Amino acid sequence: MAIEVNDKATGELIDRVEENDAAGVDAAVGRAMEAFRRSAWRRDSRLRQDVMRRWADAIEAAADKLVDSLLAETGKVRTECERELAFTVDALRFNSGITRLIAGSAHELPDGSAGHLIREPVGVAGFIVPWNWPLFLLFRDLAPALAAGVTAVVKPSPLTPLTTMRAVALAPAELPDSVVVIVNGGAEVGQALAGHLDVAAVSFTGSTAVGRLVATAAVQRFAKPMLELGGKGASLVFPDADLDRAIEAIMANAFITAGQMCMANSRVLVHRAIAAQVRDRLAERVAALHVGDPRDAATDLGAIISATQADGIQGYLDIARAEGSLLLGGQRLELGGGAFIQPAVISGDRIDARLRSEEIFGPVITVEPFDDEDEAYALANETQYGLGAAVWSNDVSRTWRAARALSFGTIWINRYNRTFAEVPSGGMKSSGMGRTRGFEGVHEFTELKHINVELGA
Ligand code: NAD
Repeated sequence: MAIEVNDKATGELIDRVEENDAAGVDAAVGRAMEAFRRSAWRRDSRLRQDVMRRWADAIEAAADKLVDSLLAETGKVRTECERELAFTVDALRFNSGITRLIAGSAHELPDGSAGHLIREPVGVAGFIVPWNWPLFLLFRDLAPALAAGVTAVVKPSPLTPLTTMRAVALAPAELPDSVVVIVNGGAEVGQALAGHLDVAAVSFTGSTAVGRLVATAAVQRFAKPMLELGGKGASLVFPDADLDRAIEAIMANAFITAGQMCMANSRVLVHRAIAAQVRDRLAERVAALHVGDPRDAATDLGAIISATQADGIQGYLDIARAEGSLLLGGQRLELGGGAFIQPAVISGDRIDARLRSEEIFGPVITVEPFDDEDEAYALANETQYGLGAAVWSNDVSRTWRAARALSFGTIWINRYNRTFAEVPSGGMKSSGMGRTRGFEGVHEFTELKHINVELGA
């Protein structure tokens, strides 16, 4: 069977890739296990450093072609594809740098023995990746895992496998055979990978519902799950904030990837004293956004990934229409052969709970007023998600109180959606388990072993 990959803006067929089955996953894991056991990869940190550094260079040199490929299979605008390439290169570069710094610790113990704690790579790790930022989200987790010395079986989304396959093919020849193996397919292949007996850790980025299935399959045989799941990102805007900056950042992050982004700033909570002003300023900006061909430099929002995804977004917009909270936008546009939605603003005092707390994953923001700090924090925390939130205020004490009161893995103060290869990130509550990036991201793919030495009298 072949998977047909189409251009999301035009619907045209771009390419076909061979679909694997459970036996294909088994063979891929076998090859990765063989590479883990026999190659120099797990032991030679200098080799890992060198390969990852040169791999970053090769991806950077091919960036133009990879951007074109990413744009076609995701349907998002070129500037986002360029950023995705830059983040991918940075993930490889940062992790190549820390490859040779992964160390344990030594202890003198009360009985006179010596304890050595060493970090060993877990073995074969599985990577299951979504379609919205397919290359970067793979390398965000894969680069720290390779730094740790694991070997990897990677399953891209069947909607967007092409750029990943091209970028993996750019690895330098010194990358030992089968250190990174790709399998293609959907739920069945993902499930076979997550449940495979020889896969010691599973990194999953995707929806919370599928994350639960993947974690269950992994934990049943005590493999380590690392989950980066859905989000309901909020900005909390206080009257003493720099409103120009806040509005700029909300606009930049609410409609990124047409709102199909885990970190999207989909919810805006505004103090009642400035709520009408902020709502109107946002509405004016949203009405001016241009939806259409992602190849056109004037386009702000490209395509929705599929008609099914667009139908799901429309379902939420229908809830808003029915209760009268849809302020503007939300029309389905039929341009070319893709699915497009005009960005929408939903606003009101007590809008439907589904709009407030569920992940819409489309070009939709909700603007809601609050009366005091406690209400702002309670509203932001009412969702099951806890990935990222921002606080807009020039009162340092308040921003600190907010940062402590909000149940999100990342809190930005007077900025939004800044992430760094150096600093771990991840979700609270149903937004995930574990942390990616930083040393913590490397440690997710290691086992800590205690070697206890009898030193004698
Ligand atoms: P998805 O959960 O439908 O699919 C993600 C991956 O899992 C794909 O590769 C898919 O083929 C695979 N899959 C599907 N069913 C499976 C199963 N039963 N077992 C194993 N694998 C299976 O998600 P999506 O639609 O590709 O992506 C959108 C979701 O991803 C949103 O919820 C978004 O918030 C989330 N996301 C999270 C982050 C983050 O870093 N936290 C980043 C991007 C996207």
